Amino acid sequence: MAEKSKILPKNVTGTFYVDETCIDCEVCREIAPANFSRDDKSRKSYVFHQPDNPADQAACQAAIEECPVEAIGSD
Ligand code: SF4
Repeated sequence: MAEKSKILPKNVTGTFYVDETCIDCEVCREIAPANFSRDDKSRKSYVFHQPDNPADQAACQAAIEECPVEAIGSD
């Protein structure tokens, strides 16, 4: 699970977030493209839109489970 003390500042406020341990593997962006994007400057993913429907919620939860370095968290 991501650490709240390491949350990337580009994440929008809300349930899901990415921390600085992201290795830019693209998995979350492929699983939940409506919610995760890439910050080209830091070369890391971040949550640009919190899920607002069941399908996106499930996609974000799947992204947590598939992230290889456990860089995604949720409250
Ligand atoms: S799945 Fe994890 S490591 Fe891969 S881009 Fe997303 S947050 Fe980063």
